[in-house]
Amino acid sequence: MKVGLYPGSFDPITYGHMDIAKRALKVFDRLIILISVHPTKHALFSAEEREDMVKVVMKDFLDRIDVVVSDDLTVKQTKKLGATHMIRGLRAVTDFEYEFQLTHANRVLESDIDSIFFMTDNKYSFLSSATVKEIALFKGDLIPFAPKYVVDKIEEKLR
Ligand code: ADP
Repeated sequence: MKVGLYPGSFDPITYGHMDIAKRALKVFDRLIILISVHPTKHALFSAEEREDMVKVVMKDFLDRIDVVVSDDLTVKQTKKLGATHMIRGLRAVTDFEYEFQLTHANRVLESDIDSIFFMTDNKYSFLSSATVKEIALFKGDLIPFAPKYVVDKIEEKLR
């Protein structure tokens, strides 16, 4: 059985993340969505809130997806949880530089864990959690960017 691990902040999950997860499910039998808790990154949502949103919006796929929260090194967790590959999404060339460094650093740490990159649907190629939060701050319409459940949670949080 092929298991992939898709790590990220998911603060909050957007249609861009969902697009990558669905593409990964076409290649892997099971997918672990790993919500990374980063000690120096300030998140809008708690790990539990992010986990809840991921589970709600991916509910149709939960028979093949596990959602895990981690504050450990991602590549270490990948191995520990029995996944063989880390999945990352690419939007534009700007993502490449960062992902390139990350992949090579991870290879030094765990040489048998490889990374696989999926390109998002063109219509999400500009989309990030940061953009969504920025638009929310100025009370813009979030419906094109994330499911209603997530939009409601953002609006609740910023109220
Ligand atoms: P991180 O803090 O690890 O970058 P994110 O939640 O921002 O966490 O992103 C997790 C992964 O999902 C990254 O590989 C990122 O490039 C990818 N991703 C996020 N949004 C999109 C999108 N709109 N299209 C494609 N990939 C995306």
